[in-house]
Amino acid sequence: MNLQGHLLYIDITQICGIGCAFCMYSDKHKSGMSMELSTLARENLSALINAADVKRISISGEGEPLNNAKVFHEILRLSEGGKCFEFITSGFLPHDKMVDFYETTNRIVLRNGDTCNIRLSADSNHIEKVKWRAHGLSLDYLRTRRPAGLSFSFRSIDTDRDFTRDYLVSELARWGIHAIIEHHNALEDVLIADVEHFNIDYKNLVYPAPGTPAGYLNLYDYIKAIEGKVNKRFTFGSLNPSPLANGMDLTVKPNGDVYLYGIESQRLGNIHFNHVRWEHLASYVRETPLVRALYTQPLTDLLARFDNMEPVQSILAKANNPYWLVKELANHDGLLEQLVPA
Ligand code: SF4
Repeated sequence: MNLQGHLLYIDITQICGIGCAFCMYSDKHKSGMSMELSTLARENLSALINAADVKRISISGEGEPLNNAKVFHEILRLSEGGKCFEFITSGFLPHDKMVDFYETTNRIVLRNGDTCNIRLSADSNHIEKVKWRAHGLSLDYLRTRRPAGLSFSFRSIDTDRDFTRDYLVSELARWGIHAIIEHHNALEDVLIADVEHFNIDYKNLVYPAPGTPAGYLNLYDYIKAIEGKVNKRFTFGSLNPSPLANGMDLTVKPNGDVYLYGIESQRLGNIHFNHVRWEHLASYVRETPLVRALYTQPLTDLLARFDNMEPVQSILAKANNPYWLVKELANHDGLLEQLVPA
């Protein structure tokens, strides 16, 4: 199995005071923890970040990562150059603080020869909760200061795509920026302001509450939409467009625990206590039957084994995201293991 083009997610905090209605991590926000970097954690993250096969390092959280910006900047400093970072945020800070954050981030990535894309949440859940909205500010900052190391994009979980589109166009107009939106596919739009293009990516709503308006995709349509983007069947791992091989998707949690993304029933170590390297993880993927099956066999083929089987069908009906589906299957004794062909 050829594994190339890995994605490293680092969740740097569980703290968040914003309170989005749909949030899957709200139980952790008050008493949760933020990542700190021990000597071994620095050594591990440095090795993971600087490996040649890493395509992106995505910093996020089970909370709002701006609440641990210090550690984000420490992580950026571990890079030896040529890396693409991404920071996923609500952008909730007062505007002067947000600009300070951008300036510091830009300075570090430029010094190291890296880039960082700031992905701002732009859906109705976040927008109604966030007082200092960063969408107009960020594109204004981009056109006036021209930070060479930073780029911006938007993300949304709105089932009503027009809400996000209309909000962004009108918010940018308030900052004197004329923007139009081009529809790309089921999961992506592009916002065009002057001649610059900014991606808007749409995440599917997981566990929609009863009465949620139509517009979200069921599991199979969501998988089909992802397959259309990469032009290959959906498997676990970091999907790279055909004909490229796929990579590994690794998540580091705020306490340092390490998992393959979406397979959280199997903890692979902790960056504060173990040596964590891509080579060991690749051996684990190749040698562990469940993981190997999830990484090599299309998920819809594996799920065909569960046709008409309860409680799988009830779980499938609600968890309309493949990663949440597998997390949910892992909560039922022995169910996940039944995915593995005999
Ligand atoms: S900002 Fe993010 S972490 Fe905070 S409540 Fe909203 S979705 Fe959850």
